[in-house]
Amino acid sequence: MDVAAILQAIEVAAKNSPDRGRVADYIPELASIDPDRFGMSIVMADGRQHSVGDARLPFSIQSVSKVFALALALGRLGDRLWQRVGREPSGLAFNSILQLEHDRGIPRNPFINAGAIVVTDAVLAGYAPREYLGELLRFVRTAAGDDDIHINQDVARSETETGHRNFALAHYMRAFGNLTNPPEMTLGAYFHQCAIEMTCEQLARSGRFLAGMPGMAGLVSPSRVRRINALMLTCGHYDGSGDFAYRVGLPGKSGVGGGILVIAPGRASIAVWSPGLNSQGNSKLGTEAVERLAKSTGWSVFG
Ligand code: GLN
Repeated sequence: MDVAAILQAIEVAAKNSPDRGRVADYIPELASIDPDRFGMSIVMADGRQHSVGDARLPFSIQSVSKVFALALALGRLGDRLWQRVGREPSGLAFNSILQLEHDRGIPRNPFINAGAIVVTDAVLAGYAPREYLGELLRFVRTAAGDDDIHINQDVARSETETGHRNFALAHYMRAFGNLTNPPEMTLGAYFHQCAIEMTCEQLARSGRFLAGMPGMAGLVSPSRVRRINALMLTCGHYDGSGDFAYRVGLPGKSGVGGGILVIAPGRASIAVWSPGLNSQGNSKLGTEAVERLAKSTGWSVFG
C-alpha cells in the first residue's frame, strides 16, 4: 500500500475544497489562525512516518489533550475515576450544561468539557497545577519521543479570560460536590492543558501508544489502551461521534484548534489539522481527510 501517495491525494482534495468550515473564535487567541492551513501525518507500525502540508507547524491541540489527561487519571486513580464521570456518549455539544442537572453533576463522559474538567480535578488532587502540567507534558513528550512540546501561555490566558461557560460548568459541578479543588484552580490547569501546542508529526507520534506500537506498552497497559480507544470511538467527537464512527470507523479525538488524533489499532497513528470546524466543533476538512484515508486503506476497527 502506497500511504505516501494516498496522503498526497488527500492533500489535493483538501486544497480544492470549497468549504473549509469555520475557525473557532470563542477563544480570541484562536480566532486569527489561518483557515487555509492543512497538515496530516501518519506513523506506521514499522515506525515509518509520512506527512503532507503543514505537518510541521504547531497548533493548539485543545481537546485532544483530554486523551492524555484521561490516560494519566486512569493511571493514578484506576476505576475509582468512574465514580465521578460516566462512559456514555452525550449526544450534546462539547460545552453543554444541560445534562449536568439531570445527572446531578456527574458528566456523561471524560471528553465533553464537564467530564474533562472532572478528570483534571481528579488528577490534580493533592498536587499543585504546575506539578500536574509538568507531569502531563512529560507524558506527552515521552509518548511523542520529543521534548520540544510546550504550552502556549497566550492561548491559556485568552481562554482564562473568556471561558465563562467552563467556569459555569465547574461551579455547577462543585455545587454537586463533584469538584474537589477550587474551580479557578482546576480550570487554570485545564486551560493550560488545552493550550499545549503540537505539530501533526508530533501528535501522530504521541498516539503510538494508543495504536499498540512496539515499545509503547510501558506507558499505558494494553487493556487500558483498548478502553481509551473505546471511549474515543463512542465519545471523541461529541454529538458527531456516531457519524465519525460511521464514516471513518476508527477511534478519534478532535479539538477546537482543528486537530484530530485518529488510531488504527495495530497499524497506524494519524494526526490531521485543518482549523475550520463543522457545526459540531470538529475539524471539517480533517474529518473528510480521515474518511478518505479509511476508504483508501481499508483501515477500520470493524474488520
Ligand atoms: N479548551 C476548549 C474548551 O474548553 C476545548 C474544547 C474543544 O477542543 N472541543 O472550550
